[in-house]
Amino acid sequence: MASLQAALKNAIQVEYQLEDSEVAAEPLPSGDERHSILFYESAEGGAGVLRHLVDDPVAFARVAAQALQVCHFDPQTGEDLRHAPNAKEDCEAACYDCLMSYYNQMDHRHLDRQTIKEYLLQCSQSTSTSSPQSISRAEHCQHLLNLCKSDLEREWLTFIEKSNLRLPSHAQLLLETCHTRPDFFYEQEHAAIYVDGPHHQYPERQQRDQTQKDCMEDTGYTVIRFDLLESWDKVIEKYPSVFGLLGS
Ligand SMILES: [Zn+2]
Repeated sequence: MASLQAALKNAIQVEYQLEDSEVAAEPLPSGDERHSILFYESAEGGAGVLRHLVDDPVAFARVAAQALQVCHFDPQTGEDLRHAPNAKEDCEAACYDCLMSYYNQMDHRHLDRQTIKEYLLQCSQSTSTSSPQSISRAEHCQHLLNLCKSDLEREWLTFIEKSNLRLPSHAQLLLETCHTRPDFFYEQEHAAIYVDGPHHQYPERQQRDQTQKDCMEDTGYTVIRFDLLESWDKVIEKYPSVFGLLGS
């Protein structure tokens, strides 16, 4: 885990041209018990690369290939190239060109690039999907599907899932302040989604919808309606910060 942490951190830096201080990595729950690795952008504001890593299904695979290269392996074949291109001496377990850095001195005795080669080769062939919850994307999607109240809502969710876009965090969540229960909700993005059938085109219904929308927007939510007047693709393209990028 220590080797993997160093390799991925260095690879993210190379792939996104970041300084050593811009991305930080920490073992969780602790350095003595490493179950997962937490990456975070340590520079103020951040470059948004970690969000990109989660949103682009092949970005992590590219980082894994970069990590193989950092560790002196051919990223395609896994062949051991023994050292960095301009280094004179062979690297057995780790060197300052691959896994060692000033920042991970406590880990130096654990570092061994050979132990992570197979795993990185597998990752370099992978695609990633992200889940807004701690359960997997598939489980979360099924949970949302079960909450859907109409075929149209199920159709919308399936469309989002198939297009590999960001999934909503909730379905049918009551937002009490505005007395409304949007079909779907993106908690982190503060966006409420309504998937409207033909009955929403009646004037009095439209008036009620508008009053709710005003209330929601005053409360700081973005209201996004999917209706029959505009294609779903078009609506999605207007809100990349909510849905991610279509066709990525
Ligand atoms: Zn090395």
